[in-house]
Amino acid sequence: MKRKFSVFICPVFVGIAFIFLTTSLMAQTPFEHMDRNSDGRLSRSEFRGPPPAFGRLDRNNDGYITDREAAGTRLSGGMDTAGQVRTRPPEKKSTELIYVDTHNHLVGRRVMGRYDLEKSARIAIEAMDATGVKLNLLMPMPQTVNQDLQLYFEDFLPIVEQYPNRFAALGGGGSLNVMIQQALREGHVTTAMEKKFDARASELARKGAVGFGEMTAEHFSMTEKHPYEKAPPDHPLFLRLADLAAKHDLPVDIHMEAIPEEMPMPSRFQSPPNPRILKPNIAAFGRLLAHNRKAKIIWVHMGWDNMGKRTIALTRRLLEENPNLYISIRIASGMQERKVVKPTFPLDKNGQLKQEWLELFQKFPDRFLIGSDEIIKPANNHPSAGSIRSTASMLEQLPKKLKSHIGYENAYRLYKLKK
Ligand SMILES: [Zn+2]
Repeated sequence: MKRKFSVFICPVFVGIAFIFLTTSLMAQTPFEHMDRNSDGRLSRSEFRGPPPAFGRLDRNNDGYITDREAAGTRLSGGMDTAGQVRTRPPEKKSTELIYVDTHNHLVGRRVMGRYDLEKSARIAIEAMDATGVKLNLLMPMPQTVNQDLQLYFEDFLPIVEQYPNRFAALGGGGSLNVMIQQALREGHVTTAMEKKFDARASELARKGAVGFGEMTAEHFSMTEKHPYEKAPPDHPLFLRLADLAAKHDLPVDIHMEAIPEEMPMPSRFQSPPNPRILKPNIAAFGRLLAHNRKAKIIWVHMGWDNMGKRTIALTRRLLEENPNLYISIRIASGMQERKVVKPTFPLDKNGQLKQEWLELFQKFPDRFLIGSDEIIKPANNHPSAGSIRSTASMLEQLPKKLKSHIGYENAYRLYKLKK
């Protein structure tokens, strides 16, 4: 009985399977057919069309035709009766890629001890294409001793090699910053520590880091698992870093909440791990800047300012006193919507650039850069997602020449980037 049933049923099953298979093959677009590894994009080796067509379809020149680039063309099945590539519906003039966003992070899954950042890099490129960012500087976050996250400059190298026209990287957040935190725990700096610090800085320079970062002197913990980090900006290893930055001619990217005098931690930051009382750091930051004038120091995240103390007056005074100080601007996403716009923010609650900040930018046109500080994950669901957009929206409000200085010229000069 059993055997008879299976003999009877088998041809029917095979027939259904055959129909299903041919239908699904026919439903595949040429794009899907060529995309052998199903990663949603075509590499040169996967592409089966004439080579010049590849260059035409790869609109952002990143070496891949993405499904978005293929939309509306023969690749996505959009063939007209003459078999020609269908003209795209009129779309917004594509954004010109000009800006250099000097402060961003990619994270990804850790595979065999290394982070796989490929998917995050592709998400970043999409955001860059949409906002006019040509080049993005990536860096490991400032890490501390025994932290779960152990992201190094070397994790970014495959991405920089794959997309040399879209990314460059800074190093030190996973190594030099950790060494400073280690020295603080031990309460002293030994000759061995200095040697190790110098060696890592040289190694980063040799491997092509465009700067040292992300370093931190005052970094609040934002979540339970996120550490609180503090280091006096004039700590011996920070002064040493200034000398190394001058020696290698690489700028230092430093994250530091502004604490002009001792003050309580705002209640919305949980203590612990955050301390209840914050110690002043601006005077010590001045000593770091004065230590070696050849060291170019970029104080990052202006426009985020958790303490509300990064005022125009403070920024102006530090810029006047310190010719080697640079400021990078981060307009965090969602601040307007969340109604957390502080008086020190460059944009008002309607997203308009304030006149007094514009005047400061005009007074120091060579000293500001943008660094939107997106943390791009494969799911792109980090709260910082969208900061590139907000930061670019500030640039769009600047007079043309100032926009070119802050948007990219200063970054090309400071980081000695290839145009
Ligand atoms: Zn930061």
